[in-house]
Amino acid sequence: MKSMIRDIGLAGQGHTKINWVKEFMPVLNTLNAEVSAAKPLAGKNIVITMHLEAKTAYLGIVLKNAGANVVVTGSNPLSTQDDVAAALADQGVTVYAWYNCTAGEYDNFLHQALDSQPDIIIDDGGDLVSLLHGERSELAGKILGGSEETTTGVIRLRALAAEQRLKFPMIAVNDAYCKYLFDNRYGTGQSTWDGIMRTTNLTIAGKTVVIAGYGWCGKGVALRAKGLGANVIVTEIDPIKAIEAVFDGFRVMPMAEAAAYGDIFVTLTGCKDVIRGEHIKRMKSGAVMANAGHFDVEINKADLAGLAVSTRVARKNIEEFVLENGNKVYLLAEGRLVNLAAGDGHPTEIMDLSFALQALSAIHIAQHHHQLDNKVYTVTPEINARVAELKLKALDVRLDALTAEQQHYLNQA
Ligand code: NAD
Ligand code: SAH
Repeated sequence: MKSMIRDIGLAGQGHTKINWVKEFMPVLNTLNAEVSAAKPLAGKNIVITMHLEAKTAYLGIVLKNAGANVVVTGSNPLSTQDDVAAALADQGVTVYAWYNCTAGEYDNFLHQALDSQPDIIIDDGGDLVSLLHGERSELAGKILGGSEETTTGVIRLRALAAEQRLKFPMIAVNDAYCKYLFDNRYGTGQSTWDGIMRTTNLTIAGKTVVIAGYGWCGKGVALRAKGLGANVIVTEIDPIKAIEAVFDGFRVMPMAEAAAYGDIFVTLTGCKDVIRGEHIKRMKSGAVMANAGHFDVEINKADLAGLAVSTRVARKNIEEFVLENGNKVYLLAEGRLVNLAAGDGHPTEIMDLSFALQALSAIHIAQHHHQLDNKVYTVTPEINARVAELKLKALDVRLDALTAEQQHYLNQA
């Protein structure tokens, strides 16, 4: 199949990016060596819908080396890197993606990918699964199973399963310890600030940062904000998470109050309209808003546009909105994931863990699909343990082992 990419001439630059990440993905490197010999995915068609940057490209290459026919599309119109897409196509993976695609093009890419009649899918956010339960449901019967990368995608899957409408088994990679503890927390923690800092070129120290949502992502972003010298305010709807934020040393208050204090706002809830007109009206002039949660729904862009008397592009990936009272507020990366739309996403060593889980889950589906029902499964304890052990080995971190007496002591009634 012929790829749909911006410019194959960018492949050289893309190869350089992919070669760099390979140096820092030891777990995936180990798996790559194993599967290149054993070919556990021989003859399987796999569709990956994910943020298409260098780490994702390497996952695609590993699955191809495992014997699969791999097709890749982006999971967000702004996170595809055209040079990486070109390099991946150059390596024999079919790619349907380019940066800044229109909604129609994005949809078309997903359809083109599904035309490859996948046996296994890897989704991020649930768009592919949604198509396979709607417009493209004729393909669902062929699917052996799939996996989902992120929190909101898993929530959508569980909703389908609860209504007994899920048409094939899905593995919730997001819910594995080796995923959310590191990717959601430390990955989002670092890459969100990387995206905000490289986009704005402003200091974080001394600023008041408002973090909406104190889940795994929110915790990471708040922790790193504190480390960078910011005063952190958290907004939450869950009483337990709110107490956690208080004991982690942060002030907690409703967004309606926090709106007046914040210099920088980051939403990480998976929920819609977390920042809306009533909040924007209270913001200080110069306030910066960014989303690192889900799609572009957390900051209400229609409200923002409705309140503005004028708008302009203030800098790459920054839109300025002048409000009636003369205040200027700024939106980063069109309210889409700031770490991916205005950065390279999570650091490489973190994606090594997440994508090792993805690769092993795809192989698990290929080998065990007969035993799987149309349910949402968690990653097996064996896969989690394998990924953790490989990472520790690569980091040269060794553990203690229980003595026989200790084992006995721990197991007695
Ligand atoms: P989570 O469920 O652990 O946390 C979400 C938190 O938001 C919860 O504590 C919830 O109570 C709170 N919340 C929900 N609605 C709220 C509202 N209206 N106001 C304030 N708080 C609210 O989920 P998570 O793993 O932290 O993921 C959060 C979002 O980020 C999801 O959409 C996920 O898909 C996405 N995600 C993004 C990245 C990235 O690279 N940017 C990485 C991982 C996950
Ligand atoms: N596609 C949706 C869903 C959120 S994506 C959207 O665009 O809004 C969030 C996921 O992106 C996380 O679970 C994380 O594992 C993944 N991610 C973060 N950094 C990444 C990177 N560098 N490459 C590929 N995926 C990445």
